[in-house]
Amino acid sequence: MKVLKFGGSSIANSKCISNVIDIIKNNTDELCVIVSAIGNVTDLLLNCLKFAKNQEKSKYKSLLLKIEKINLEPIKKCIPLEYQSKSISFLKKHLNEIESLLDSISLWKEITDKNLSTVSGYGEIISSHIINEIFNHNGIKSEHKDSRLFIKTKLENGVQILDNEITGKKIIKYFESKTERITVIPGFISSDHNNEITTLGRGGSDYSASIIANHLNADVLEIWTDVSGMYTANPNLVKQAIPISKMSYYEAMELSYFGAKVIYPPSIQPLINKKIPLLIKNTFNPNDLGTKITEKYSSNKVVVKGISYVDNVSLINIEGSGMIGVTGFAKRMFEALSEKNINVIMITQASSEHSICVAVRTGDDEIAKTAIDNKFSYEISLGEINPSRIERKMVNIAVVGEKMKNHQGISGKLFSTLGNNNINIKAIAQGASERNISIIIDKKNLNKAINSLHERFFESQIKQLNLFIIGVGNVGGRLLEQIKMQENYLNDFLGLKMRVLGISNSKKMILSNSAIKLSAWKKELDQSNNVADKEAFFNHAIKLNLRNSIFVDNTANDDIAKEYSRYLENSIAVVTCNKIAASDLLNNYLNLKSISRKYGSSFLFETNVGAGLPIIDTLNNLVASGDQILEIQAVLSGSLNFIFNNFKKGVSFYKIVKIAQKNGFTEPDPKVDLKGIDVARKILILARESGINLEFDEIENKSFLPKDCMDTIDNESFFNSLEENDSYFNKLLDEAEKKNSKLKYVASLKNGKASVGLKEVPKDHDFYNLKGSDNIILFYTNRYKEQPLIVKGAGAGGEVTAAGIFADIIRIGRNDGRD
Ligand code: ADP
Ligand code: ASP
Ligand code: MG
Repeated sequence: MKVLKFGGSSIANSKCISNVIDIIKNNTDELCVIVSAIGNVTDLLLNCLKFAKNQEKSKYKSLLLKIEKINLEPIKKCIPLEYQSKSISFLKKHLNEIESLLDSISLWKEITDKNLSTVSGYGEIISSHIINEIFNHNGIKSEHKDSRLFIKTKLENGVQILDNEITGKKIIKYFESKTERITVIPGFISSDHNNEITTLGRGGSDYSASIIANHLNADVLEIWTDVSGMYTANPNLVKQAIPISKMSYYEAMELSYFGAKVIYPPSIQPLINKKIPLLIKNTFNPNDLGTKITEKYSSNKVVVKGISYVDNVSLINIEGSGMIGVTGFAKRMFEALSEKNINVIMITQASSEHSICVAVRTGDDEIAKTAIDNKFSYEISLGEINPSRIERKMVNIAVVGEKMKNHQGISGKLFSTLGNNNINIKAIAQGASERNISIIIDKKNLNKAINSLHERFFESQIKQLNLFIIGVGNVGGRLLEQIKMQENYLNDFLGLKMRVLGISNSKKMILSNSAIKLSAWKKELDQSNNVADKEAFFNHAIKLNLRNSIFVDNTANDDIAKEYSRYLENSIAVVTCNKIAASDLLNNYLNLKSISRKYGSSFLFETNVGAGLPIIDTLNNLVASGDQILEIQAVLSGSLNFIFNNFKKGVSFYKIVKIAQKNGFTEPDPKVDLKGIDVARKILILARESGINLEFDEIENKSFLPKDCMDTIDNESFFNSLEENDSYFNKLLDEAEKKNSKLKYVASLKNGKASVGLKEVPKDHDFYNLKGSDNIILFYTNRYKEQPLIVKGAGAGGEVTAAGIFADIIRIGRNDGRD
């Protein structure tokens, strides 16, 4: 004998029911088929009750029409016309009964327990009748049995619970008299000892099925629903969740108890003694394997089986010195809660015994608080303990797996994952069974927490990075191209998946909740109606509240540089090629560094010096490994290199600068480059990264420009003055050449002092042969004392800068202590 239960969505309409018919026809065994109410009829009935209580007659009447329509559709589509009247009149008769009940509730403005059970139970009374009729008119011989006659409940502590003993006897008796191979039974409903209708609780059809499976010694219980099994996490919240093929009763029990709605928690218990396997199957994809739940737990290496959560939780905190060393305190508190039938989701006690914290459903929190405060009114009156405090808008997340008890480090992983994402854990508890670790966090972090935990425990191969990019010109545009081009590589070799969720230039922006298509971003940005707005951009990233979020600044704008601190404070990493923040006032730089450390959010700016060359990374690695920077010598300006590499006898200096400007090798105002400001900023950043606290003003900058060139007020007068000083520049060149040297603009750092300026570089020097716009940097350290560590290569240009930013993003992706 098999017991099959079909949930509301599995019989939601005629199309779904045709799948059910096929599933039944594929079975040759004796079958007990338990059905829920059709679609969301139970919800609608409960809403009718609310409207009746508020005397909103027109509202409940219109819901009744809706219920009628939902139930009529399968009758009309699945039963031949000449046989429909029986079911239609059955439906109408029951709808009339419901309406009379609602009318009387509306008169008394009160919903009694009895009314609640009676009205909410109609869904199954009607659906089971309709499904049985449909079966009989579609080649399935079946008979209907009413579960109210054999599933009995009794009142305990003010709530109706299953009376298992009587139920068992009645089920056996009722099924002795059955005449057909297939029986159709309404789920959810039962009756008490006065034969009044009761229910088994929301989602209770699963329980009806398992009670019947138990007492009829079924070979298997199959729960047919709208997903292909119990998933590693709620598939509505975690897109990457996958069905768990096998699990133990206890694992299923913990996951469902902590919110995996796919099985109603009490439904597992009746199966355990007789070891009846439970299969969760998808009505819409019957060939999918689904989940098999048995007493065994799988022998493979999976330690964590699933993650689930309970929404709408409140924490109740009780604290006070009067609790210390007093035995029986927790016992009294539990008594207070159980007297009011309040289900405690979790309890934690600080080791100081100074406080206890219990998690309950938000609907119960007021009653729980009052019950606790009443219980301890004496201690409260003496000031030994404080009145309890309620904290709302919490969720409980549970990480579940039988093997967790034999494995160290699960809680460490859990903490580090949440910590890295700036999610504060309010309370934590490990079940005595050690099958679960349960934590309470703010509800606003639910999505982020579940997804990052899921990623950590189940998707260790693939990690998702969420990017918010400002500046999509020369550098940013290329960065987007590189991200698109490298998608497969990142996935296959680094286990990274980059999603761009925000793009902005100075005029417009795209804010998206899902990955922006990188083949069409330009067009989308052009057509966007969103005007660029730093505030809205930031709020978008905050609202999405996604793990591994990264803000990327590809601009040179000082307003954008001011944004970094708030991103970092919200655990959003910052990657930037914008030099302003790192070369601004020392305090600002130090502040950003400290925020980054405090919130564990990376702040990376490799491209500030030498574009894509790994200069800062090399420096950081040297320092981190215990080396000490003794001296840095560097040529760091692509524009000045271009100018001095091309400045030869017979070519005027003025012309070379003009060409450099024309080709975009200089800033729009070339004086900024020639004055050495850009180079000074770069050596300042390197000094700071070496641990030397310098301000910009402290850098020695001896300009090679004559005073009248320095004093010019615009580009035109600057170029005129360069031309007028032609002989001066030629003289600089002549003098260098006389000594067989070349002119290079050099930055250096030694003994805590930084300087920049034009130098004559002799033939045997590493700088002598520097070509084009290349950069070179020599690190002299304790370990590289005689021969410096040299980094050399292209140090300017959109392509290499974008590559440097790309490398910073990957650094963040790989740096999370994943094993
Ligand atoms: P039925 O109507 O068949 O009883 P339910 O709506 O009660 O179905 O339960 C199935 C739903 O449970 C799924 O559609 C899914 O949205 C939700 N769910 C929550 N957590 C999980 C999980 N871990 N695995 C599978 N489904 C889950
Ligand atoms: N129809 C009931 C409910 O929605 C029982 C069930 O579907 O399991 O709660
Ligand atoms: Mg259900």
